[in-house]
Amino acid sequence: MVLAGAGLSAASGVPTFREAQSGLWARFRPEDLATPEAFRRDPQTVWRWYQWRRELVAGVEPNAAHTALARWQSRADLTIVTQNVDGLQQRAGGRVIEFHGNIFRDLCMAENRLLAPDEQVPGVPPRCRRCGAHVRPGVVWFGEAIDERDLREATHAAQRCAVFISVGTSSLVFPAAALAGSAVQHGATLIEINPHETPLSPTADYRFEAPAEQVLPALVARVASVQT
Ligand code: NAD
Repeated sequence: MVLAGAGLSAASGVPTFREAQSGLWARFRPEDLATPEAFRRDPQTVWRWYQWRRELVAGVEPNAAHTALARWQSRADLTIVTQNVDGLQQRAGGRVIEFHGNIFRDLCMAENRLLAPDEQVPGVPPRCRRCGAHVRPGVVWFGEAIDERDLREATHAAQRCAVFISVGTSSLVFPAAALAGSAVQHGATLIEINPHETPLSPTADYRFEAPAEQVLPALVARVASVQT
C-alpha cells in the first residue's frame, strides 16, 4: 500500500502546503484558506485561490514518481491512497483512493452534491442553480470528515498490507497520518520516502531521504527485477 502526499506532485510543479506560496498568494497560508470557515468568511478569495490552483494543475504533467506507481500497480496488488487533489496519479494511470477529494469537482455547499457546469450560475464563486447556495471545490477541507467509503477502504487496505510506503507526506494531517500506524500494528513493514524528517520517521523500518521522483522509479525497477 502507498500513501501519497503533496511531495509526490512537487516535481510536476505543484507546490506543497509546507512551501511558501508565490506571487499573488504569498501573504496567505494554505491552512487558512482550505477550511469551511475561510470559505464562509471570504468565499471570493478562497474560490479565486482554488481557480488559480486548478489552472496551475491543469498546466502540468504527471512526473516519474506517478508513472512508477502506475507501472507497479499494473502488475501487483497495490492500493494507492492519495491525499493529493490534483488528479495527477490518475492521469499517469492507476486506480486511486482520493482521500481528500479532487480539485476539479464542484459541489453545492448546501446540498453537498456534485454539480455539472450547467447546474451552476456563473459567479465568483458560482451558485447552485437549484438552491442558490455557493459552489465549492470538491475537496476535503481541514476539519472536515473523510468520505466514509474512502476511509473504510483505506483502513482495510492498511490492515491487510505487507508493506506500507508513506511518500511525500508530512504525516501531520489526520486521519491519513494514522493509516501507517494501523498498518504497522497489523504487521506491515513501514517505508518512508521524503527528503525531510517527519513525525513518522522514527518508526519507519526503511527511510529514503530523497525525492519521490528519484526513489520510486528505482524501487519499482528493483522490485520488477526481483520478481522476474
Ligand atoms: P504537505 O505539504 O504537508 O507535506 C509535503 C511533504 O512532502 C513534506 O514532508 C516534504 O518534505 C515532502 N516533499 C517535498 N518534496 C518532495 C519530493 N520531491 N519527494 C518526496 N517528498 C517531498 O503535504 P501533505 O502531507 O500531503 O498534507 C497536506 C494537505 O495538503 C493534504 O491534505 C493535501 O490534500 C494537500 N495538498 C495537496 C496538493 C496536491 O494535490 N498536489 C498540494 C498541496 C497540498
